[in-house]
Amino acid sequence: MQQETRQHHPFNVLNRHGRSDLVIICDHASKVIPREYNDLGLSGSDLERHIAWDIGAQGVAELLAAAFDAPAVICGTSRLVIDCNRHPTDPAAMPVKSDGVVIPGNQALTQSDRDDRVRRFFHPYHDMIEDVIGERFREGHHPLILSIHSMTPEMNGKFRPWEISLSSNEQRKVSELMLGLLRRRRDITVGDNQPYNLDPAEDYSTPVHALARHLPYIQVEFRQDQVGTPAGIKKWADIFTEALTDLIERSQAPA
Ligand SMILES: [Zn+2]
Repeated sequence: MQQETRQHHPFNVLNRHGRSDLVIICDHASKVIPREYNDLGLSGSDLERHIAWDIGAQGVAELLAAAFDAPAVICGTSRLVIDCNRHPTDPAAMPVKSDGVVIPGNQALTQSDRDDRVRRFFHPYHDMIEDVIGERFREGHHPLILSIHSMTPEMNGKFRPWEISLSSNEQRKVSELMLGLLRRRRDITVGDNQPYNLDPAEDYSTPVHALARHLPYIQVEFRQDQVGTPAGIKKWADIFTEALTDLIERSQAPA
């Protein structure tokens, strides 16, 4: 078990010294539950569902990292072990229940159990994001944080019509530009703070890594029925790349 514990990687960094100003992060990329947690007592089918990870998000993140030559920090641990986009003191960081499914391995956690997950998985991931952002500044970049998520097509019996959606708070200049660029396409339905806005009381990553230092950000949700296959991932990475390329060109154009 010791050996297996050591093999778990709390994050993976791609393109660390890429040329783009973008820094891509992917909090819910992974469905990996380190072996010693015994699948948190869940069955195989639940471990494949959106409750464990953001289906398709890592694939989109990888294609965007390649398209823009941008660094990407990819989380390596399932959000059922610890949700790296929640404040570690939030009960939702180690959910006892998710979309109606009871998580047996998260019942009756002690403070020491919680601290252990925060130390082993949460901090290494977020510390690496900080390291990469710090390096970007030193290398002369002005980082734009791109936080990539995916959402289930249906929640609590309600279908979500948005194939792609941006989440923002009141600091939303870049999000508004990007919404406009995405909406030039008539064949897609773009959500603006639907189903999720960006809430610093709930979200952790974008508020801490971007808002706290006044960095521009885009937080995006792709709908999982759209990015559930390699072809879908490619299609949506291309749609996003086209809009983001225009956004970057406009921001670099002389005023
Ligand atoms: Zn997510």
